[in-house]
Amino acid sequence: MKQALFAENNKCVLCPHNCIISEGKRGICGVRINKEDNIYALVYGRPCSIAIDPIEKKPLYHFFPGKSILSFGTVGCNFRCKGCQNWEIATAKPEKTDKVSYPPKKIVETAKEKGCDMIAYTYTEPTVFYEYMIDTAKIAKKQGMKNVIVSNGYINEKPLRELCKVIDAANIDLKFFNNEKYMKYSSGKLEPILKSLKILKEEGVWLEITNLLIPGLSDDLKEFEEMCKWIKENLGEDVPLHISRFFPHFKLGNVSPTPIETMEKAKVIAKKYLRYVYLGNVPYESNTICPKCNNLLIKRDGYNILNNLEKGCCVCKEKIPGSW
Ligand code: SF4
Repeated sequence: MKQALFAENNKCVLCPHNCIISEGKRGICGVRINKEDNIYALVYGRPCSIAIDPIEKKPLYHFFPGKSILSFGTVGCNFRCKGCQNWEIATAKPEKTDKVSYPPKKIVETAKEKGCDMIAYTYTEPTVFYEYMIDTAKIAKKQGMKNVIVSNGYINEKPLRELCKVIDAANIDLKFFNNEKYMKYSSGKLEPILKSLKILKEEGVWLEITNLLIPGLSDDLKEFEEMCKWIKENLGEDVPLHISRFFPHFKLGNVSPTPIETMEKAKVIAKKYLRYVYLGNVPYESNTICPKCNNLLIKRDGYNILNNLEKGCCVCKEKIPGSW
């Protein structure tokens, strides 16, 4: 347990929920508690999952492709998504992991022992383990390592700007381009997420976006097109977009997987606005193609990568955005 960094007496101001927490109670995320008018992070140093993943699994496709990244997360989340893929850990109580002790220094040491020079804050929502994340990221950065967040983007401006000082790349889940749907299916709001995307871009963090197409919920292609347009106008056409195929989970167990046809249609729409569009959870390759000459730049066969880039450029000299 550690005292929270962004709190004002009984109010947690880490994320846009801005929970006012009574004595002995917890915020919406379930992992931040009020004790004598101080807010404490219950999951500090208490991961529920640690693993080595390919960076493509985050997914990040323009950030050191083919590399392995030490990934970890704690229990808790500030969203309650009805189709959550990790709901067992997202909704679990911190008591579930309170016997595990894995301080930030040990995370960094483990990464190095396993030959990883990158750390991902992921699996659940890293904002809710902010203190643990930022302490780990500071140590990692000092040692020349890279830090990556995989997040829902639901964080207030001040903590996000502070975090950007030590974060190198982010994949942000933009679930809906509709506030009502955000409130109904994720218990959050759209506007703060759009703001976070702009801040990440402004602060020079490498940014990729994931959008999950859920049949009947987020597969309205008109809304999808508005989202792509917004990304181009506000973040630029070089931000990679991962369109992810939905499979039934949690409270959306009765919803069918996204038809491949819908995925393909969405890709055609997205390509009108964005230069790098990828399909995720589909049974075929999602390669990086040069937007200028159509040359195959990065071939992805599962997590096997064939990188044909020469110092980040295509043979036609087109510079491909990202870190190679
Ligand atoms: S991080 Fe948790 S406690 Fe803090 S405002 Fe968000 S949901 Fe509430």
